[in-house]
Amino acid sequence: MVKFQDFQLSPSILKSLKRIGFEETTPIQEQSLPFSLAGRDIIGQAQTGTGKTAAFGIPMVERTDARVKAPQGLVIAPTRELAIQVSEELHKIGYDKKVQVLAVYGGQDIQRQIRALKKQPAIIVGTPGRLLDHMNRKTVDLSRIRIVVLDEADEMLNMGFIEDIEAILEKLPAERQTLLFSATMPERIRQTALRFMKNPEFIKIRSKEMTVPQIDQYFVKVEEKDKFDALTRFLDYHSPDLAIVFGRTKRRVDELSEALSIRGYTAEGIHGDLSQAKRLSVLRKFKEGNIDVLVATDVAARGLDISGVTHVYNFDIPQDPESYVHRIGRTGRAGNSGMAVTFVAPREMGYLREVEKTTGRRMRRIDVPSLKEAIEGQQRLAMEKIHAAISENDLSLYREAAEELLSESDPVAVVSAALKLLTKEPDRTPVKLSSERPLPAKRTAKNRKTSVKQKEAVNGQKYFRRKTAGKR
Ligand code: ADP
Ligand code: MG
Repeated sequence: MVKFQDFQLSPSILKSLKRIGFEETTPIQEQSLPFSLAGRDIIGQAQTGTGKTAAFGIPMVERTDARVKAPQGLVIAPTRELAIQVSEELHKIGYDKKVQVLAVYGGQDIQRQIRALKKQPAIIVGTPGRLLDHMNRKTVDLSRIRIVVLDEADEMLNMGFIEDIEAILEKLPAERQTLLFSATMPERIRQTALRFMKNPEFIKIRSKEMTVPQIDQYFVKVEEKDKFDALTRFLDYHSPDLAIVFGRTKRRVDELSEALSIRGYTAEGIHGDLSQAKRLSVLRKFKEGNIDVLVATDVAARGLDISGVTHVYNFDIPQDPESYVHRIGRTGRAGNSGMAVTFVAPREMGYLREVEKTTGRRMRRIDVPSLKEAIEGQQRLAMEKIHAAISENDLSLYREAAEELLSESDPVAVVSAALKLLTKEPDRTPVKLSSERPLPAKRTAKNRKTSVKQKEAVNGQKYFRRKTAGKR
């Protein structure tokens, strides 16, 4: 076990880390810190949820001088949510060193950002487009940047940000340290990194150490038309504290969250088309436990650190194994246990095998819970509520009524009735869900190479064709 104290860190940083509750390093932190603290460039690869933020956040805060009134650290992140999340973590790491951190991203009032930038925060975390915008307006001073980080580089590649990133890197001082962190390492990223880095150290945490042992991984074979009822059965049976349901498309996410709400679950969806304010408010509600089920697309949930997620349901199996690893990485975080259930249409079994090859783990097959099991699951929850109410509340005001009820009826009948009222019974309200075509049957390793964008286009076309065909 390697501790942060074993590294040459400033006392103020050790103090902040202690306050956050970080004592032992994660593997990517342990292996990268010796190099990053020595000023070396790094290309680091490790699965989502393994602590990459602190792996670069610690050397970045270490490198900044709070007395210098100019930005010295720059983090480029793919989405606003990630930019905000990273800036919050950097703020915590730099708290005792009094390092100012600012996040700048598209969708937020630019004048407000300009005013904040005038205060010369020591660290800026930004999305590529908005950073370039500020550079073109000359409202950000990057002349004293000493350390730059490309966070979630593979996602930035997927989103088409590579040219923007290159344009930003070209304008930074040559005398600087460059760190790149990513969950996967496509060739294009490696190439870009090498062009802008000096003799980088490659650090890769292998996928064996990657898979999170506490996540129980299951799959269930289910036809497209039966998926939604299967999902509600699972939700009733498992009664998760916090669940994330992944859907393949934005439409799917909208329809699923709507349908779940109709059936009485507190559910909301997030995807790329929602306004920033909406996405943030949904995430906040979820983190605070005011929503039980979050429905999301891959991109919207990518890299988000949401703790306390107990169940992940892959309503649609992801197209590539990497997405699967990212999705289930939302649960079982920081030593908590978690469960992942992947819905597979019969012809999608090839995709399941691909996923298993990547994670090196077999998923166990389970069946859709029966109606009886679903009701039992909800009853269990009602019983837990009653137990909690007995131990946590003063019930003296209720005793008289209880005694009256018990004197009039059979005690088992009274408790059964109370349980029934507390139990969310399976709801059969009809809901509307457009059917999504299962992924094309997988035969060769070749069709895996198709880019995500191409695949989306292909699926979109197919869906369209089928839809029109159905109307005839
Ligand atoms: P990644 O960027 O690799 O996806 P994050 O940096 O978001 O991962 O970290 C995932 C979670 O682990 C966060 O909640 C973070 O606070 C926590 N974490 C990171 N490093 C440590 C550590 N050394 N000890 C305990 N928790 C940690
Ligand atoms: Mg991250």
